[in-house]
Amino acid sequence: MTDELLDVLVVGGGAAGLNAALVLARARRRVAVIDAGEPRNRFAPHMHGFLSRDGMSPLDLLEAGRAEVRGYGGEIVNGRAVSAAGEAGAFTVTLDDGRMLSSRRLVIATGLRDDLPDVPGLAEQWGRGAVACPYCDGWESRDLRIGVLAFTPMGAHQAGLLRQWSSDVTFVGPAAADLDAETRAGFDARGIRIVPAQVTAVLSAPAGADGPGALTGVALDDGSTIPLDRLFVGPRPVANDALLRELGADYAEGPVGEWVVADPFGATSVPGVWVAGNSAVAHALVVMAAASGAAAATQINADLVADDTRRAVAALTAAAG
Ligand SMILES: Cc1cc2nc3c(=O)[nH]c(=O)nc-3n(C[C@H](O)[C@H](O)[C@H](O)COP(=O)(O)OP(=O)(O)OC[C@H]3O[C@@H](n4cnc5c(N)ncnc54)[C@H](O)[C@@H]3O)c2cc1C
Repeated sequence: MTDELLDVLVVGGGAAGLNAALVLARARRRVAVIDAGEPRNRFAPHMHGFLSRDGMSPLDLLEAGRAEVRGYGGEIVNGRAVSAAGEAGAFTVTLDDGRMLSSRRLVIATGLRDDLPDVPGLAEQWGRGAVACPYCDGWESRDLRIGVLAFTPMGAHQAGLLRQWSSDVTFVGPAAADLDAETRAGFDARGIRIVPAQVTAVLSAPAGADGPGALTGVALDDGSTIPLDRLFVGPRPVANDALLRELGADYAEGPVGEWVVADPFGATSVPGVWVAGNSAVAHALVVMAAASGAAAATQINADLVADDTRRAVAALTAAAG
């Protein structure tokens, strides 16, 4: 690993961080990506909605991205960053094994984790039979028996959307009892079933030789079950943002709770620190995450060019006397 001062350190090597690194490496910047290798969508066998990459494995996408970054001289450092300190021009990031890297600018692209409702059997189906995003898995769920877990108000929004993909949609869970009159009328008119019961388990077929069993339904607290082919869940997004907080970035209340404040290119309130992907916006899909990494990279390179120019002028002035 390099011990020179890098131009840019990217923490997080998902689509956002790798695309930032790709654009920066192609701009002839010395760049390294520190990555713990756990992208949020690693549970899903396929990724959808990314032009020209539709259906690809999420892990294959990142492997291809790593190779492209390396191809332009960027470095990939496997590991987890545990601390970040310093200021524009001299940041230091420490890894959990004690290694340290320094850079002039920082990109935080550490993504988020999905805090699932505590329902037995749900985690085992996550990314396969139980999914979150209609635009990622709606097509694959078309005309199937779809359940939507009713734990938060977001669940009602999901259920309304999913009627676009299937006429067999059941909104099930405790929050189904709290629907306002307008939403209830809309659900009734469009044939979305409302089941205000406690979901006690997500049910799966027995595992077979080719892997874990398919989702088969949900169990309710009255002992009954609802047969389902797919379950949509609105998990609580929790930003992987310890480094941003340590660096002192500003936060504001947003649609999914407190999130870091950043401009459209990802610049945070801390000079020299950018965010990209789900670190910047919780609802970013993969292609949006990649695009935000590229956008941040262009602004960072321009910022470094301005810095290089200031230094060159100062050096010339000093030499002149
Ligand atoms: C089950 C599921 C399926 C999905 N399917 C789709 C889909 O089909 N299409 C789509 O567009 N979107 C899909 N998404 C959304 C998709 O996961 C996100 O859009 C995407 O992962 C965001 O990319 P990112 O680079 O911001 O974060 P991530 O992909 O999560 O990458 C962040 C990276 O940073 C690393 N990291 C975190 N903390 C540290 C640290 N301290 N030090 C070093 N590294 C760190 C992580 O290990 C990870 O590798 C899905 C999400 C889920 C949960």
